Amino acid sequence: MRVLIREVKDRIGSEVEISGWAQNIRVLSSVLFIELRDVSGTVQGVLLRKGNEELFDELKGLPRESVLTISGEAVKSQARIGYEVQIKHLEILNRAETPLPLGVVDKIESDIETRLENRFLDLRRPEVLAIFKVQSTISNSIRDYFVRKGFIEIHSPKIVAAATEGGTDLFPVKYFERNAYLSQSPQLYKEIMMSAGFDKVFEIAPAFRAEEHNTPRHLNEFTSIDMEMSFASDEDVMDVLEDVIKAAAQSVSSLNERELEILGVEKPSLGYRFRRITYSEYVKMAIDAGIEIKDGDDLSTPVLKAVGGKINQFYFITRWPRVLKPFYVQPYDDTYSKGFDLQYGELEITSGAQRVHSPHILIDNLRSKGLSPESFSFYVNAFRYGMPPHAGWAIGLERLTMVLLNIPNIRETTLFPRDRTRVTP
Ligand code: ATP
Repeated sequence: MRVLIREVKDRIGSEVEISGWAQNIRVLSSVLFIELRDVSGTVQGVLLRKGNEELFDELKGLPRESVLTISGEAVKSQARIGYEVQIKHLEILNRAETPLPLGVVDKIESDIETRLENRFLDLRRPEVLAIFKVQSTISNSIRDYFVRKGFIEIHSPKIVAAATEGGTDLFPVKYFERNAYLSQSPQLYKEIMMSAGFDKVFEIAPAFRAEEHNTPRHLNEFTSIDMEMSFASDEDVMDVLEDVIKAAAQSVSSLNERELEILGVEKPSLGYRFRRITYSEYVKMAIDAGIEIKDGDDLSTPVLKAVGGKINQFYFITRWPRVLKPFYVQPYDDTYSKGFDLQYGELEITSGAQRVHSPHILIDNLRSKGLSPESFSFYVNAFRYGMPPHAGWAIGLERLTMVLLNIPNIRETTLFPRDRTRVTP
């Protein structure tokens, strides 16, 4: 029975069968070494020529990255990891073609485009695999957190008739004789679920944004982790968000020691309380840093760099001006809102808010943003027959992975990125 390569070290002295990719084959005159890799690690297999001449000669010409099963005794040895497998049987399951379009173990760094073009090979590299093992921990830990706290997991439609915010960043799709769009956010549906009485919901699903810009932090398809809770304020869901991020960081620290080591990244330590800086305080901090900005202006990249760039931590920016936030954000007063962002340094990770629950304020807000309440009637109706106060947020899974692993380009934290120029592979 096959075991993972990681398990070989616990079976020294016994027979093992392992399968994987031959990432390197070294041939000496009388002995041959195969470095075999699977999802769990690598180990060396050793074959003596004597008594195995036919197989030995066949393996001499075997291309790297061919897929093999080997079996034999696991023994202590001089190999770097202290043990190896003495090959008794070997089966070639599939030969790789040559040359490889991208090296898997080569030390030379290929550019990101070549890597993405040959992503299946790129993903074989342990340092790339490590990113996605960590990302799996993050999403599992967040899902686990929500389930433990009594949230219901939902799956909202990804083909929708109206834009979440009436924006233009939408991908149109032909829906029989009508036009529809790919969903840019589950916002409206998760709010409808509050009217439906589900109390606390979450969703982990793709969101599509037809944004034209090409930046290291934007994708045209990303994974949005959304939550919404009834009878909750902006402050309440900021508390939940801080808890969720700390739980995810804790899980990564305890479950991904090996991956962090491969990536050369410290365990994320979040023993501090996330600061809550109001938008107006942030503007003052920017002015103090010599930036030209006035209250009411959006926080542009230079502003976030100047102020946030100095804060190497998670922190909230709260009470944004109403004009800068969407119609569904609850007013704080005439000027400010109960909308917040979670930032890490200069990077936005999450936006959230207490939401409007009064249908009258909602309709006023829609009109004041130049949107027609009629075209949102499926949503507005849910507010007319008993909508509880509610609040929620959305984190981008890829951005959270960037922050926890200190990775500067979002394309590295996505298996198959969709950006301005890329729709394959
Ligand atoms: P930004 O201002 O950075 O463009 P946004 O204000 O459009 O983001 P929201 O619509 O509030 O973002 O989305 C919530 C979260 O989803 C963001 O904080 C981010 O983590 C993630 N996100 C949003 N847009 C993208 C995108 N194009 N690519 C990757 N992640 C995104």
